[in-house]
Amino acid sequence: MSVFKGLEEIVQRDFPLGQATTFGVGGKAEYFIRPRTEEELREVLVRADKAGVAVRAMGRGSNLLVRDEGVPGAVVQLQPAGFSRIEVEDDLLRAGAAAPLHKVVADAARAGLSGVECLVGIPGSVGGAVRMNAGGTYGDIGQTVERVKVMDARGQTFHREREDLLFGYRTSNITARFILEAELRLLPDSPRSIAARMKKIWIAKKNTQPMNAASAGCVFRNPRGLAAGAMIDQCGLKGASVGGAAVSRKHANYIIVKGAGAKAADVLALVDRMQKTVKERFGVMLEPEIEIWP
Ligand SMILES: Cc1cc2nc3c(=O)[nH]c(=O)nc-3n(C[C@H](O)[C@H](O)[C@H](O)COP(=O)(O)OP(=O)(O)OC[C@H]3O[C@@H](n4cnc5c(N)ncnc54)[C@H](O)[C@@H]3O)c2cc1C
Repeated sequence: MSVFKGLEEIVQRDFPLGQATTFGVGGKAEYFIRPRTEEELREVLVRADKAGVAVRAMGRGSNLLVRDEGVPGAVVQLQPAGFSRIEVEDDLLRAGAAAPLHKVVADAARAGLSGVECLVGIPGSVGGAVRMNAGGTYGDIGQTVERVKVMDARGQTFHREREDLLFGYRTSNITARFILEAELRLLPDSPRSIAARMKKIWIAKKNTQPMNAASAGCVFRNPRGLAAGAMIDQCGLKGASVGGAAVSRKHANYIIVKGAGAKAADVLALVDRMQKTVKERFGVMLEPEIEIWP
């Protein structure tokens, strides 16, 4: 622990990282670090930078697959206690990176602000959602982002403004190591109509996606103009399984994990099978939307 000596309250060695993801499978992180303040985060980054220890930012682990072999270096997850404040000022909602999306959506609706209902049911944090522009059919978070506060690998903080931010399909141009906070510009609307839209979106998702199973959402990105789920379905892969991982019968672009003995290797083998089958049938190589660590 010499790199992080004195920070034992927030640093754990050989932490079972896979269990902290929504898939619930995979190996350990060499260091799992949960800073409570910006100062602690800066200290961690400065020391890691000096010692050449790789650092990864983790949100709520809902878009990640951790390999069984684990992750070398440090995985840093901002503690909600210090990084999840949500404030509303007129039509602007400011949220800490560790704030869960469901809380942002609920607070915005209560304040009569529309624009983030599209995120209903997405189990991520503000930081993870902004980094990869979470969203889908009903819209994405990027369309609301006015400003982000970030910290680079050396612990310097700065802001990035709307005019210099680019959001694409599950991508953003935010490359700084940590997003600390995001400001979302929303539109006034009645709480009642926002709630009605949220309900409609939630019902549509619940009817078509396995929202309560252990997964990381859609496994593959949709190739241009095509739906990955429909292609996998047409290959007859719904229900196909490897060990404890199976293609959801409700939505073919979801892999769900069941059973105590399930491994990340099962998920990876199924990913491989889905890619190969779709390639053979349609000539298209599906690209993972989930992030595979390391
Ligand atoms: C049931 C289910 C449904 C889902 N539905 C959707 C959906 O409809 N649309 C969608 O887009 N996604 C969906 N997802 C995937 C996932 O919830 C989103 O991608 C979410 O935005 C990931 O956020 P996270 O906090 O869990 O990030 P993580 O999975 O922890 O990390 C994702 C990426 O963000 C980076 N990151 C995390 N926090 C920070 C930070 N503070 N600063 C910088 N980088 C950071 C990580 O390094 C990583 O690169 C779903 C997942 C599940 C399990």
